[in-house]
Amino acid sequence: MLNDSVAVITGATRGIGFATAKLFLENNAKVVIFGSREESVTKALDKLSEYKDNVLGMYPNLNNENEVANAFKKVVDKFGKIDILINNAGISSSTPLDNYTYEEFSKIMDLNVNAMFLCTKLVVPYMKENGGVILNTSSMVSIYGQSAGVGYPTSKFAVNGMTKSLARELGKYKIRVNAVAPGVINTDMVSSLPKEVIAPIIAGIPLGRIGEPEDIANAFLYLASPMASFVTGEILSVDGAGRA
Ligand code: NAD
Repeated sequence: MLNDSVAVITGATRGIGFATAKLFLENNAKVVIFGSREESVTKALDKLSEYKDNVLGMYPNLNNENEVANAFKKVVDKFGKIDILINNAGISSSTPLDNYTYEEFSKIMDLNVNAMFLCTKLVVPYMKENGGVILNTSSMVSIYGQSAGVGYPTSKFAVNGMTKSLARELGKYKIRVNAVAPGVINTDMVSSLPKEVIAPIIAGIPLGRIGEPEDIANAFLYLASPMASFVTGEILSVDGAGRA
């Protein structure tokens, strides 16, 4: 479905980002995975070795303008262009407000919002001539908030705001900007929770299960593909309707 497109995916060494990288490779894209450490990037590349001619790994500091700019330049040197950026790297926390430090709040905003802004700003020049697709990972908490850990939902409300605003600003270049808002997804973070914690979460999801990383990857594939050529500024919930 992606026909030789070149996609850069941040936070792609595991979880949702890794599943998306794999699905995009299966659909004939060239994929560049960004991670936070050399070791995790190497490990992820090993798992994708059957696609080795079409995949590249890097670990720029996503809050450092020079590092991100150099990484994008290397992508273009290797694959000739960038058609798709998925801003997926993100961290969360559920610390109650009384214990929430300014540093913890800033750390969340730095990755979930500021790095998204920086990567987006630096990729757009590569997309202006032939159009492109920018996809952001939001969350169901961007709609409802959450009862502790105010930084994470705040950051995801910002993700939605950036998505909708840039869709309007960049439409004239044929750059589409959308987000996927996952519900509870079976990544490392969730699979380590005890059964007693997971069971009531599942009970609140009408489809009767938590999501798999592949459920989110499928949504990204649709939004990145020409099937979504008239879709922009959209926040697509993929959550089994488990929204409380
Ligand atoms: P994960 O923890 O499995 O993976 C996170 C990825 O982000 C990893 O590849 C990691 O290398 C990268 N990362 C972490 N810190 C980084 C940093 N400082 N710089 C660069 N990269 C960094 O998480 P996941 O569950 O796959 O989450 C991916 C996205 O999905 C996040 O934006 C998260 O907020 C969002 N999300 C997850 C869920 C869920 O239930 N898992 C639900 C809603 C939204």
